[in-house]
Formats: sequence, structure tokens, C-alpha cells
Amino acid sequence: MAAKSAKPGARSLSGIPALRRKLLRARARGMPRFLEDRGRRLLDAYLATAEAEGRPARALAGDIASGAVAQKLAEMTGAQIRAEEPEQLREAACSEGCAFCCILLEGDGGLITEAEAVQLHGALAPLAGQPDGRAWNANACAALDPETRLCRAYDARPTVCRSFISVDVEACRENAAGGDEDGSGMLGNHLDYLAVLALSRDLMRGTALVATYNMQTITSAAIDGVALDKALKQARHKSAELEDTCADIGNSPS
Ligand code: SF4
Ligand code: SF4
Repeated sequence: MAAKSAKPGARSLSGIPALRRKLLRARARGMPRFLEDRGRRLLDAYLATAEAEGRPARALAGDIASGAVAQKLAEMTGAQIRAEEPEQLREAACSEGCAFCCILLEGDGGLITEAEAVQLHGALAPLAGQPDGRAWNANACAALDPETRLCRAYDARPTVCRSFISVDVEACRENAAGGDEDGSGMLGNHLDYLAVLALSRDLMRGTALVATYNMQTITSAAIDGVALDKALKQARHKSAELEDTCADIGNSPS
């Protein structure tokens, strides 16, 4: 991975057991306690499996710092939700080429991890200079194909895109034009993703930086031919963004 997460000269964590002990005290700042506890159980189970498999602690720490572990755990709980097929999924209005949710009005598109930013950039950089989603709608994600309205980074799309769902396409159309209609939202695995990511940040504090990134800046930069290191620098969030995003969840009606 091209991005550098570990701070030069930082002390290394002394093995997975030490990580698991530290996790007991880690906080997912801004996150409601029950979601923090769920994230802690998920992350501890992941670490326990890694320990049983004899995975090297250094590589594991790198995956925690890049957000790759948060991404994997969200993928796992997302698969569980999809297997249970809740009403939200049974009634989903989503279909290929329906891309109002790829119009990113606030210039962000959602918070993504370093691992996701690197994957997105890698998938899109070969398409630099081609017409992109912004030719369809000025606020659309640059990963979008302006003709077919399909995601050109589908396999590399981040958790925020994989979790978004709607039961009302007309609400999505309205919201893409600045409306505030009900009907769309995130699958529950997105809460796991944020909780594990916030815990990861606290767990790695003093050892490595767990940064978050602005998705729209990464996709636009990749299509505009900006190199990965520069794109990451441009897209890196201020550190408060993750905590604010977690706090928004705590403040939103259940
Ligand atoms: S979330 Fe809305 S805009 Fe996106 S695919 Fe589903 S229905 Fe279409
Ligand atoms: S990465 Fe793909 S799915 Fe996500 S907003 Fe961009 S075009 Fe849509």
C-alpha cells in the first residue's frame, strides 16, 4: 500500500494479546455505548481469530490502521444482514443504472478509510481523462459512467456505497436535487464499520494514524490524473470528522 500509516519511530505494539488488552479500554469516540460495545466484540473476535491463526501482529496492526479490518468486518456483518433479508432489503428500489445516490451534494460522498481510498484510486486511475459522472450531473461521483450510470469502480466501491439503500427511488431523485425525503438510508453494518474504525483509532493511538478521507475528492482526483499520495493528502479529513460522524449517529432518531 502506498499510503504511510505508521508514524516514523513509533513504538510497535507488542503482539496480539497486548492489542486485545488495550481494546478493552479503547473508546469509539462519539458513538453510542451499545454500538461501541458491539464494535469491540467484533474487533476482539477478529483479533482472537488472527491470534489463533498465528498472524503477525505487525501486519495486523497495519490492517487496523488502514481501516482494512473495519471494512472486512462491515462486509461480514453486511453479508449476515443480506442473508436475513430484512424488509428494508426485500422492498429495496435499487437497480442497475439508477444512480441518484451517486450525486454527492455536499461535496463529500461520505467518509472512507485509507484502504478504501487506495482501492478506489487504483481502480479509477487507469480511466483518467475519460468522461466521468460529472458530465451527467455536476455533483455526481467521478467514478460513475456518464452514459450507463454504472459505477466504474464497482468492485472497489467503499462501504458507504455498499451500505446505502432505498425503498423509494423518487425520494432519491428528490434528494439528489436538494430535497429531504425519507426512504433511503444505511444498512446496519455501516454502524459496525464506524464503530470498529473509531475503536481502531483509539487502539492505534501513539502507534499509527487511523485517518479518514473524503470519497468525492479521491474519485475526482483519480479521474483528474492526480497521483495517489497527493490525492490522499487532498482528501484527508480533519481528525474530528470521524468523531462527528459517530456523534451524528448518536443524535439521529432511531
Ligand atoms: S439508493 Fe436510490 S438512487 Fe441509489 S440505486 Fe437505490 S433507489 Fe436508486
Ligand atoms: S464509488 Fe461508485 S457507487 Fe460509490 S458514489 Fe461513486 S459511482 Fe456511486
